[in-house]
Order: sequence, then structure tokens, then C-alpha cells
Amino acid sequence: MTTPDLSFMHPYFLGAYAENDKMVESILLEFFRDHAYWRRNFHPENRPPIPTKAAYREDFNDFVAAMQQELHTLSADLKKSVPFFSPRYLGHMAADLLIPGVLAQMMTILYNPNNVSDDAAPATLQKELDVGQMLAKMVGFNIQQDAGPVGWGHLTSGGTVANYEGLWSLRAVKFYPVSLAEACRDFGFDPEGVGPLKQNLSAYTKWELFNLTIRETHQLMQATLSRLKQDAGKKDFQRFTKMMVSESLECLGMAGFFMKHTELKPPKVIVPISAHYSWEKACKVLGIGHGQLIHLGVDEHMRGDMDHLEEAVKACHSEQQPILCAVGVLGSTEFGSVDPIHRIVEIRDKYKQKGLHLGIHVDGAWGGYMACMFRNEDGTFAAHEECRKDFKYFPHEGTWKAFRAVSEVDSVTIDPHKLGYMPFGCGAFVSRDAGILDFISQEAAYVFDLKDDPLKKPPMQKLRGLGQYIMEGSKPGAAAAAAYISHRVIPLHRKGFGRVLTNSMQSCEYLYDKLYELRSRVSNLVTITIPYTPDSNLICYCINPKRNKYLALMNHFSRKIFNHMKIDPNQPLQGHDFFGSFTSLQKSKLNDHESARILEELGIDVDTFVDAVEDRTKEADHIYMVRHTLMNPWLMHREEGDEYNYLDRFCQFLERSIIMELDPSKRR
Ligand SMILES: *Cc1c(COP(=O)(O)O)cnc(C)c1O
Repeated sequence: MTTPDLSFMHPYFLGAYAENDKMVESILLEFFRDHAYWRRNFHPENRPPIPTKAAYREDFNDFVAAMQQELHTLSADLKKSVPFFSPRYLGHMAADLLIPGVLAQMMTILYNPNNVSDDAAPATLQKELDVGQMLAKMVGFNIQQDAGPVGWGHLTSGGTVANYEGLWSLRAVKFYPVSLAEACRDFGFDPEGVGPLKQNLSAYTKWELFNLTIRETHQLMQATLSRLKQDAGKKDFQRFTKMMVSESLECLGMAGFFMKHTELKPPKVIVPISAHYSWEKACKVLGIGHGQLIHLGVDEHMRGDMDHLEEAVKACHSEQQPILCAVGVLGSTEFGSVDPIHRIVEIRDKYKQKGLHLGIHVDGAWGGYMACMFRNEDGTFAAHEECRKDFKYFPHEGTWKAFRAVSEVDSVTIDPHKLGYMPFGCGAFVSRDAGILDFISQEAAYVFDLKDDPLKKPPMQKLRGLGQYIMEGSKPGAAAAAAYISHRVIPLHRKGFGRVLTNSMQSCEYLYDKLYELRSRVSNLVTITIPYTPDSNLICYCINPKRNKYLALMNHFSRKIFNHMKIDPNQPLQGHDFFGSFTSLQKSKLNDHESARILEELGIDVDTFVDAVEDRTKEADHIYMVRHTLMNPWLMHREEGDEYNYLDRFCQFLERSIIMELDPSKRR
């Protein structure tokens, strides 16, 4: 294969050799000076509180010296950091950062905006909401203010909190109709045919009310409240809103709510076993209980098993067991696998007809940005044939359909600080329907003033008090500036950021093929298997010495291979040629069929894969794998005719490591 032309990316990154240092330095200096002059010119008539002579004093200089010393120590310590920038780093989900993001973030930190509300962030709050719109558009949500549900999004500290918000907002919406019906009963008000309802509100069971969609619930809220406004006086209306608040799940708590509504069972949350552990945390934090998680099995591609999903939904339907949400993973953390989101949407639509509605949240913390590889400049979704042109394997038809279906789910997590190449502290929650804002506001929307009706305010106006609508409070405007500027100069479509990710995917395909070549080359020594063909840019493999049948031994051997590419804080980084990461698959997560498929290919006795290990020399409860994230931009590059292929070199390194571990006398 010919090395692709990467010149378009040359100005994007500081570079593995800090090649762009002068450019970054001069821009940084320009904007630091600009900031200093801004301060100076704010009220130039004021006397500077720090006198010009201050720097002549001894204690002043003592302080500066002490600070510098500490900073030098920090700077020295930081040299132990992981060399994410290097094409020799093939480990976790991190790489070099986009210069526009770094510059915008560093510049903005000096102004220290707090995006909790626009009076603390007059410049950057709007940028955060704009980033939300850009991401919403990238995944295919409508952002036209006058047509259907309007998407919105905001930044979080990371994917974990964005996932919490996915559950939090679905919970706020899905329990609302039950609370509303209860408040109406308390108040002696039984509206007929409000919003999506055909009959009187009191005619509906709690099960039916729980199973409305976000849109239906929003219409129900608006129609009921405006009917009430017409019928009741101001005083009565306020009395009602107080009742509404005290009936809400947010007021009663999960325990109080379900003690009151014994007919309704506590809700389930469905996630595939490949889901990130933040989903367990989310269930704990929200008081849902991680015991309410239904774990879906996975297929031979590590994608959520949709037959299993359908079975689970069917069982819930027949038992009137509420489902809060089904989670689809768009790029799993360990394997990069992409769940068939289109099938989840199909199952949702099918069961909605039968009276069960489940929310869908897509966890695209990792793969969310890949949506821009499918999005044309004009906003349309590119045809499968078109998307395949740059690749040998990618995108699998299911992957393409999955990305296309994201526009039909309720909300999405996307991490700019992962595949967005932004500094850490930048995740995003994106929702298809800004209507959810009325259910999660701290100033509960149903407590609104009769004159100033917040339900009528356009979402973007409400969001000036962003902190009222999100989990976090004070938050960095600098992160918003970073994502905003990056997306402005490298837009989120195929011709923009899509090209950066295309390169990453091509690297993954290349390594995949090369690992297969290596596999044949060393087949007399070891068996290498890649249990899951990559859906995105992660690749994991197992290495088993020839004739070994014990899982424990294979894990031990693979771990020894991994030690050749492990970050060890006590060793100089330069001692290693390459870096990787590892993962393991627990016995409890795999079904027998899948365990057998993987182990038989390796020549491992399936009986040595056990839940409870007795014989540590033979048995194990997990399958250990070496794992690589292929996101460095310079894994294969060409300079004046010379090719620099770190993936070829990596395979040679891996081969040497294998030979060395099999025969220690061959150590260098
Ligand atoms: C990384 C990741 C998360 C968690 O995101 P953080 O930014 O680390 O909080 C959640 N889900 C998936 C699929 C991830 O890859």
C-alpha cells in the first residue's frame, strides 16, 4: 500500500518532534501579550497595585526563585509522563493534541471564564452551546430552531458525567407523567385529551404513563399546564405547581416514589457487557441501583447481541417491567466495537407499538467523533459505497447503519478529550430534544411564573443559566473555547476532521493485516489471534506459545510480552521501543459459545477458563490481551521519498519480543 499524503495535517499538531514549536510559541506569546495589554487598558488611569519597584525587593525575588525551583522539579517530574505524542505510543486512548485546541485553551485560561452561567462567561458560554450544536449536527440531530425537536448539547468533565446525564434526563422525563397524574388527582383536576392523550388523564395506568416518549411527555406537560392556566386562577395555579413538585421523583427520591407507586416496578437499564464501567457508577449515583442493569451478551464482533436485547425487552413487556434506557456503545473502550444502533432503534419502535417505550442513549465517548467520517459537507449522510472508498475493510455495513441511526436516539455521549484530540476535561452530552430541559431545570419548569413562561422561551435563551440544567456547576470556559476553535478550523465532516480519523482507521487496517502476516511468520512458535475484527481503531490480540493448552500459561506469556511495551514509572521511557496497553475478558462476561470460539483458535483447553480458579498454574478466570489504540497521526508517514512506518517496525519489535520470551538466551 502507498503511504497516504498527510501534509494537510502538518499544521494541526505540535508534532512528535515538536516541529511546530516556533509557530505555537509565537502565537502563544502574541496572545499572552494581548491579554496583558487588555488588563492594562481596562482602566489605565488606575495606579498599578504592584509597584514597579516590587521586583527589586529580596522577598519578592526569594518567592520567584522558590517558585521557579518548584516548577523545575515539576517539569522534571513531568518527563515521566506518557509520550502520547509519539508514533511509538500505541496504548491508551490518547495522542498528540490539536494545536487550535491547545492554543485556545491556554489563551482562555488567562481570562478564566466560568461556563456555569453567562454572567460569569459572557464570551465562552455561547461557544459551549455552539459546540453542542456542532456535535448535534455531526450525529444528525436537527438543529433548526423551527422544525421538530431541536438538538442541543453541552460540555462535561468527561464521558462518565455525560453518561450520568443521559440516565438523569431520561429518568426526569419518563417519570414525569406519573407525577403529573398524581398531582392532578391531588388537585382535583382531570384534563381530557391533553397533548398526546385521547382520554382523561386519570384513565391511564402508571405503566401507560411511564411509556410515553420524550416528545409525548413534553406535549403532555405543555397542554396540561396551559389548560390549567386557563381554568384556574393564579393562586390555584401556584398551589398546583407546589403539588407537582412534591409528587416528583426528584423530590420524593427513588425510594419514596416507589413506595408511593407500588404498581410500578423500579426501572431497568440495559447495557451490553462491553459497556464502560461508568454505567454501573451511573446507576449507583442516581439511586437506580446497579442491580437493575440488564447485561446484554455480545456476538463474535463484541457487538451487543440484538436477539438478546429483543428477548429482554419482550420479557419486560410481558411483566410490565419498566425500562428506563437501553445503551448502545459506539466504539467500546476495550475493543472499539460498534453496537447495531439501528437494531436498537428498530426494537424500540416495535415495542412502542405494543405499549413499551424505552429511551436510547448512545455511549459514543470513544467513537462519537467517527460520525464525521460519514457526514458530508452539506450535512447529508454519505452512502456506504462512498464511505468505503478510502479503506480496505471499514466501515462494515453494520457500522455504517449504526452511525446512520444515531440521529434517531434520545441522547449521545461524545468525548472531545478522546477522539477529538482535545486536552483532558472535555466530554459532551448531546440530546436530540431540547425539550428535556424543562424536566431537569433546578427551577422546575412547572413552577413557572404565569407571565414569564419558561416553556415558551427558546432553549438557547434558557441555557444562559447553564448550571441550572446540568449535573456540574462551575466549569471551564477554556475547554469550550478549545473545542469551539478546533471545530471551526477543522470542521466535523468528511472533508474536515473526517480526514484525520480516516488516517487513524487506515493505520488500524494496516496493523491488522500486518499482525496476520506476523501470525503466519511465527506460527511455528506461537499462535496469535485477534478475537474481534476491529470496527474502529482499536485492536486486541492474544499470544499463545505453541502446544500450550493452559489459559493461565497463555495469560502469563502475553503479560510478559506486554512488559516489553509497558510504561514503568521507575524505568526511563527511552528504554522501550514501543508502548501498548492491555485488557482482559472475564469469564463471567462471555457465553460458552464465544469462549470456545476464542480459545479453540488459540489451542487452549476451554476447561481451563473458569469462574473460580483452583489451579493457578493452569486455570484463569480471564483472557488477557494486548491492546492498541491507533490514533497517532504519524504512524505511517513519508518524507521526500523515504517511508517511516512505525507499524512495520512495531511488528518487528513484537516478533523480537516473542522470540526473546520463548528463548531468553536470545536476549540482546
Ligand atoms: C472513556 C469512555 C467513557 C468514560 O469517559 P471519561 O471521559 O473517561 O469519563 C465512557 N464510555 C466509553 C465507551 C468510553 O470509551
